[in-house]
Amino acid sequence: MSSTPPVVTRFAPSPTGFLHIGGARTALFNWLYARGHGGTFLLRIEDTDRARSTPEATAAILQGLDWLGLDHDGDVISQFDRADRHAEVALDLLAQGKAYKCFSTQDEIAAFRETAKAEGKSTLFRSPWRDADPSTHPDAPYVVRIKAPQNGATVIRDRVQGDVTIRNDQLDDMVLLRSDGTPVYMLAVVVDDHDMGVTHVIRGDDHLNNAARQMMIYDAMGWDVPVWAHIPLIHGPDGKKLSKRHGALGAQEYQAMGYPAAGMRNYLARLGWSHGDDEFFTDAQAQDWFDLDGIGKSPARFDLKKLENLCGQHIAIAEDAALQKELHAYLNAAGLPALTEAQDACLAAALPYVKERAKTFPDLLEKAHFALVSRPVLPDEKAAKSLGADTCSILSELTPQLQNVNWSRNDLEATLNSFAEGLGTTFGKLAAPLRAALAGRSVTPSVFDMMMVLGRDETLARLDDAATRAPAGDVAG
Ligand code: GLU
Repeated sequence: MSSTPPVVTRFAPSPTGFLHIGGARTALFNWLYARGHGGTFLLRIEDTDRARSTPEATAAILQGLDWLGLDHDGDVISQFDRADRHAEVALDLLAQGKAYKCFSTQDEIAAFRETAKAEGKSTLFRSPWRDADPSTHPDAPYVVRIKAPQNGATVIRDRVQGDVTIRNDQLDDMVLLRSDGTPVYMLAVVVDDHDMGVTHVIRGDDHLNNAARQMMIYDAMGWDVPVWAHIPLIHGPDGKKLSKRHGALGAQEYQAMGYPAAGMRNYLARLGWSHGDDEFFTDAQAQDWFDLDGIGKSPARFDLKKLENLCGQHIAIAEDAALQKELHAYLNAAGLPALTEAQDACLAAALPYVKERAKTFPDLLEKAHFALVSRPVLPDEKAAKSLGADTCSILSELTPQLQNVNWSRNDLEATLNSFAEGLGTTFGKLAAPLRAALAGRSVTPSVFDMMMVLGRDETLARLDDAATRAPAGDVAG
């Protein structure tokens, strides 16, 4: 048995808004790493900022993760609920002499900075209370500060960024407990990560500077430092930091736009991580392949075309029942009406024929339009052009021939081909009016596939509807 502890990763969002694309990618990387290493993936809501944290945001984050299928282990942890434990660690450091009570007032700190500035010295606050004899302590409010190392350097051994060295004289005696006794966020993160047994901290590189400060706490407590992996942020196609003007930022907006979760996972995994030239892969492959060495150092660019392309491939390989279930969730997320039972049944029959070339759910629904629409099937403008008076008589001639044919793909193909031959034409020429009559569209799945899905009665009824509706003299132009 190996002596390395089992992998524990975590996603630690602050509940101040929806789950954005960057957060979703961070969650995915942590999930992939844990799942691929037989580890544990924890979810911690960093809700210590009471003014900015909302239950709605927590709910939106949970929903986003749920949609993406990033299931966490154990209960959702609230950081705020653990405030007593965070304070306990600060008091422990105080007792060990690794932290101290600082009685400096805001005015004194401001004055210190001004003097330092005037003298051209570092404005990092150096508290006069760091080495003060406790017998000199006044009966006044105080904060608890950590004793930061003053010499040497702190090295963050980052699996993505490499060794990042920070001179210790750049670190101040960070506050651990505020004067009201509440712990600061930086302390909460370290205590939680330690207590939760987190072995790998994979997060955005906007937290790299925090890592140096957090290491002070690990060192002071004598705790093992986790493996750091600070991943570059996501940029828009123009190379600038991803923002609203690049399009949707919320992970769930992509659900409402009709991107399947598997395609989204595949795409987000490729945003900043690579495995050779592989673009399209399954979850099992991603879990198997994902490692920290494959994370790039430069920001990934968000590319909607690539996302669509991968989504199309995932729709094509999806299992029909799962696809249909996700489609229902999409309709709900998009605020569209749910399918009726009849539509659902017809869609189930149509899915194998339409999922091959659909990139998104709206695309899939458009391809499956013939199966969802009910009679009378009204042609759209383009399809209507194929239903002129000449085609009316052709369709009425065809209908009786389909009355008794064996309803199989082969027999239908043979019948339609010989019918076309009898007219001195080819089936290709008949396809447009048939598409228009059966689907009301000019672009549809194959005519035979539609006939098989619709069945004899519905097919004949639609052909008949079109034949009798075609206005005399309205010749296809
Ligand atoms: N709560 C932080 C955020 O949402 C993440 C902190 C961390 O991963 O250590 O950006």
